[in-house]
Amino acid sequence: MTTYSHSRLGTYENCPLQYKYRYVKRIDIDRRDSVEAFLGSRCHESLEKMYKLLLNARMWSKDELLDDYKLRWEREWHDNIFIVRTDLRPGDYYNQGLKALSDYYDRYRPFDRDKTLALEQRVEVALDDSGKYRLQGFIDRLSETDEGHYQIHDYKTERTWKTQEYFDAERQLALYQIGISNMFSDIRSVELIWHYLIFDKEARSSRTGRQLEELKLKTIHLIQEIEDATEKDDFTYIESALCDWCDYYHICPAKKHVHLTEMMSPREFAEDEGVQMVNRYIEVKDALAELKAEKEQIERNLFEFCKQLSVEVVRGSTHKVKVKSEPSYKAKFTASDDPAEKERFLQFIKERGLYDELMIIHYQKLNSAIKGTQLSPDIRQALLDFVYLEEGKPRFSASKLRKSDY
Ligand code: SF4
Repeated sequence: MTTYSHSRLGTYENCPLQYKYRYVKRIDIDRRDSVEAFLGSRCHESLEKMYKLLLNARMWSKDELLDDYKLRWEREWHDNIFIVRTDLRPGDYYNQGLKALSDYYDRYRPFDRDKTLALEQRVEVALDDSGKYRLQGFIDRLSETDEGHYQIHDYKTERTWKTQEYFDAERQLALYQIGISNMFSDIRSVELIWHYLIFDKEARSSRTGRQLEELKLKTIHLIQEIEDATEKDDFTYIESALCDWCDYYHICPAKKHVHLTEMMSPREFAEDEGVQMVNRYIEVKDALAELKAEKEQIERNLFEFCKQLSVEVVRGSTHKVKVKSEPSYKAKFTASDDPAEKERFLQFIKERGLYDELMIIHYQKLNSAIKGTQLSPDIRQALLDFVYLEEGKPRFSASKLRKSDY
């Protein structure tokens, strides 16, 4: 039985193929840290340390908090940390963390708005009574305001602020709420709080019992979908902006060739077989589109030419082209905005038992019925009141000239 986590589910939602690489095939790769993840970890660690000391009645000064962050940053930094954004340097991220923690400290000092109950609290979330579907996670900080009024805090270093609608539907903290409801018997209310450290902003939300039940079902369905995909080995890939941070970029079928070309010199790039084929393919595709447009223009001109000369065959040096166009009857109401026109027509064919025969979607039937002999002459004549003759779409067929054509 697999125990899932919010991030595991999120991986599948973002890209099923990445999920397969990470959780099914467990591909052993030299995992790198993105600078964003590195920054997030350092901020989390420093806040955790600060609250741990607060639990022991020792309040850090702001400088102590920032010094702890600086020390962690320097100690943990390594060469395998990658930066996707070319306009930013490591020092820019370092400064973002400093400012974020400084703002946080100013905003919540003296940290007495709530009482911290636990830090990095592990929670197990049972989604069904049988225990078949389970998740686990860690709450950054669990606190209480008044007796039984719990708060679940999550620290974010993302650079995208979200809407209230997003927070009201967010899954992770709501799942943690389900988790703590089985751990503490005195819970009277739970508030979900996200601290967006970079923005110095917080968002709050809460869930009703019904919403939590719905979330359980939705999450079970997602797990079932993942297990189904695993059984069938059916994982598609979803390309997105997140690909730049993907550990499997170099083996992903959507990115492997891109990755290989990124490492090529300009000369190697120009000589690469794949690059050359794609370039030629696009040239041919564009040329074909141009030729198609030209062919259609020639067909229109040929059609006019035939009409003016009253001919159906036009000869060239080696080929001749036959231009055939046959007009067909169309119900008048299809070219009219008047609904009464349609009503009159339908009434007419219904009264004469022709509805099934000529049902309006069967324009072809209508045309062949009027042109054919199955209708009585008077009905045919009356039907002509409801239709008009539309010029046929010309058909073109080219063939090699025969001796007799010269
Ligand atoms: S590179 Fe993108 S598409 Fe490929 S596995 Fe990773 S996230 Fe999915």
